[in-house]
Amino acid sequence: MTFHQVEHPLLVIPGPIEVSDDVLFANASPSQSHMSKSFTETFGNTIRMFRQVLVTERGQPIITAGSGTLGWDMIASNLTEPGDDVLVLNSGYFGQSFSDCLEAYGAKVTHLKAPIGQFPSREQLAEALKLKKYKMVTVTHVDTSTGVLSNPQMVSEVVRQVSPDTLVIVDGVCSVGSEEIRMDEWSLDVVMCASQKGLGVPPGLCLVCVSERAIHLVETRKTKISAYFASWLNWLPVMRGYEQGKPVYFATPPIQLICALYTSLKAITSRPIEERWSKHKEASLDFKQFVTNELGLKQVPNDPSVAANSMTAIYFPDGVSAPDVIPKLFEHGIIVAGGLHKEIKDKYFRIGHMGITAIDTTRHELEKVKDTLRNIFTAIGHAAKTTD
Ligand SMILES: *Cc1c(COP(=O)(O)O)cnc(C)c1O
Repeated sequence: MTFHQVEHPLLVIPGPIEVSDDVLFANASPSQSHMSKSFTETFGNTIRMFRQVLVTERGQPIITAGSGTLGWDMIASNLTEPGDDVLVLNSGYFGQSFSDCLEAYGAKVTHLKAPIGQFPSREQLAEALKLKKYKMVTVTHVDTSTGVLSNPQMVSEVVRQVSPDTLVIVDGVCSVGSEEIRMDEWSLDVVMCASQKGLGVPPGLCLVCVSERAIHLVETRKTKISAYFASWLNWLPVMRGYEQGKPVYFATPPIQLICALYTSLKAITSRPIEERWSKHKEASLDFKQFVTNELGLKQVPNDPSVAANSMTAIYFPDGVSAPDVIPKLFEHGIIVAGGLHKEIKDKYFRIGHMGITAIDTTRHELEKVKDTLRNIFTAIGHAAKTTD
């Protein structure tokens, strides 16, 4: 059966993103038992393919119902014990929220905060790690509130040099599937994400991948884990079981969503993952050049080296604000996101270009966004041209 989703406005916010017909159709697959042979095979293959996306052989995926936020709860509850020190590399709204979650479980958080549009430097990180011994360092790969791209490879290098036992945790909710990430080679301990961003699946799944070091830590911690659904001790036997073809029950998995994830990962892993990263880079560069050269607008990241490939955060020119632009885009069937970072909330807007929107150029989605933005800013007049 060929399935086509109904016509709808183009969703180019930084997640949820557009979902392919195949993936959406898989999300409507018939009921099956979570203990069946067919679902066990689907789930097992999904776990294996997720490893390929993160370029890891040793990482242990844990895929459950939930959203990206559950990943924070899992990391906080499994890997920290009350009073543990955590260093949060804070490049926007999501670093702050991760920190709030860690504190909810009793961790003591220190922030290494960069000015808006920037990311802490290698030197600042080394300095911070010398001052105190941290249980873990967290880094938001792409902070969706600012579009700032961090460098988890650099973070991990510095951590392994200065404080080798400290865990390196990556919030990859707005990067996995879009940005280069090499879990084993970069020695990352946890990479967490959600289904609705770079993986191109409807919202509802939390995906984490955990290193051997992190699992060892969970298994040998002194205090009990103060969570139940989020406890990895409950999920590890389930994930290992499904991968070995032997279903294990802890809590019913969201079967249809996992079928949808399977379908998306099948498409993603049908090509080398490097190709997917570079297609995102190309789409992003092209879009950012348009913003700079044709619209004459500035972006929130203050240098191209710290700008995400999965999204673009754009400052409005003087005298222009969200109501001048966002509703007009909507009239033309395009949905973008407003500002989120509270210090600059009304000064910028955000566009996501992940998944099929970036990869499948025959959809002409970014062309449509560019044409519409060009028309809107031309109609506004010289506002864009007179800023500098
Ligand atoms: C979206 C997002 C989250 C939160 O994920 P939810 O699925 O909304 O719970 C966390 N971190 C980052 C970087 C995000 O972009």
